[in-house]
Amino acid sequence: MPSKSTKTTAKKTKTTKTTNKSKVSPKTTIKSASTSTVKKEVKKSVEKKDKKITYNTLRGMRDITPKNGVIWQNVYSVIRNVSNSYGFSYVETPILEQANLFIRSIGKGTDVVDKEMYLFEDKDGSKVCLRPEMTASMARSYIENGMQALPQPVKVWYHGQMFRHDRPQAGRFRQFYQSGCETIGDSGPVVDAELISVAYNTLRDLGIDTVVNINSIGTLEDRQNYIVELVGYLRSKRSYLSEESKKRINKNPLRILDSKEKEDIEVMEEAPQILDWLSPESKKFFTDVLEYLDEAEIPYVLNSKLVRGLDYYSNTVFELYADDEEFSNLALGGGGRYDGLIEQLGGQPTPAAGFSLGLDRVVMILRKRQEKLEREGQKPVEEKKNKVFFAQLGIQANKKSLYILEFLRREGITVYHNLAKSSLKAQMEMANKIGATHTLILGQKEVQDGSILVRNMDSGIQEVVDQKKIANFVKKILQA
Ligand code: AMP
Repeated sequence: MPSKSTKTTAKKTKTTKTTNKSKVSPKTTIKSASTSTVKKEVKKSVEKKDKKITYNTLRGMRDITPKNGVIWQNVYSVIRNVSNSYGFSYVETPILEQANLFIRSIGKGTDVVDKEMYLFEDKDGSKVCLRPEMTASMARSYIENGMQALPQPVKVWYHGQMFRHDRPQAGRFRQFYQSGCETIGDSGPVVDAELISVAYNTLRDLGIDTVVNINSIGTLEDRQNYIVELVGYLRSKRSYLSEESKKRINKNPLRILDSKEKEDIEVMEEAPQILDWLSPESKKFFTDVLEYLDEAEIPYVLNSKLVRGLDYYSNTVFELYADDEEFSNLALGGGGRYDGLIEQLGGQPTPAAGFSLGLDRVVMILRKRQEKLEREGQKPVEEKKNKVFFAQLGIQANKKSLYILEFLRREGITVYHNLAKSSLKAQMEMANKIGATHTLILGQKEVQDGSILVRNMDSGIQEVVDQKKIANFVKKILQA
């Protein structure tokens, strides 16, 4: 109900309008109502309606459609199970953050900061960006939420969208999904090994065997000594390097180590190796991590060219590659130790390590495998299971349906259905289309006597089941 004052204002406006109208000169009225102008306006609006306007996702971004929905959900469910069972707690952070958080932590001179950030000015003039990764956000969150007061280490896991304005190609998007784990507040090598094990076993549980590539880039001090040596070597070979790498000699020489350009790869074969520049403590730390991996029987290869390209890493760095010829060049995940990051962002000195998996690539592999099975005439694993459809006939049954569906859901049972269809024929067609093995039929008679008809779609045999017993009956069908 509008307040008194609003009512008065409304009335006043009306009066003003009438007064204004009476003031309009006859000339203006004729002009605004001129037939040719009106015709033009009508023509324009018809043309607009005829021309179909379509909207597309932005380059490098895409929808997750029902076609892949099941795979995505399965991926999330495995990640949740593995992360929780290793004692990681679920967290979320905002997608939009202060741009400086990433500029400071990832570092200038890196591709992510120099070229790929979705950076813009907010309405108050502050510089913000869509997060390009989660580690810096998590470090901020640890400091901001006083997590140093919690029992250490704090172990968290997450999943969500990241944004990098990169050149889109197979397995590379501008909006992509990552999930990952971070262990903050413990400096032991077992932490690094546990994280690698969680990443490796998550992918294994999803049916993807991987090989872990691992390296140590030592402490900041180790690295500074090594960089002097490396830059000296690169300058002596400058003319053989790619144009991009020539620019990187002073800006980010470590990145040249893992360049994919043919001429760079040749030059880097003779380059000094970072492992030779590690302090005895860093070497011992790295050997300890490898021993844990040996014990856990996690396959790894030492990759002296792996540096990961973000400024905050120290000591252990790793990446996981599919042990599958078709996808072996695609990194499915990566991570490492970042002992200096929390202090750099204004917190107490706090050791930490973490990893993230690229879910788009994981789903891509699972999807391709499923398509291959389908081409070979095999049903995907999920389709081999029994499926139950729920059909209803008549207005009374339609009204009772939501109650039955919710009753089944509370018992942990999912049944396919389409309550918008009233014809039994149409519903049975749908049941056949999705490959239902059984259909529950609720008609007027069943509503009245508290039963449900269960039809075996293969044999056509129908059984009358008491509604009170239907949950157990369906559970047996689904478990068969
Ligand atoms: P990073 O920390 O940048 O190595 O990212 C970790 C993982 O995320 C990578 O191993 C990829 O699997 C995935 N990833 C990184 N960037 C993209 C991208 N632009 N599109 C799809 N996946 C990506």
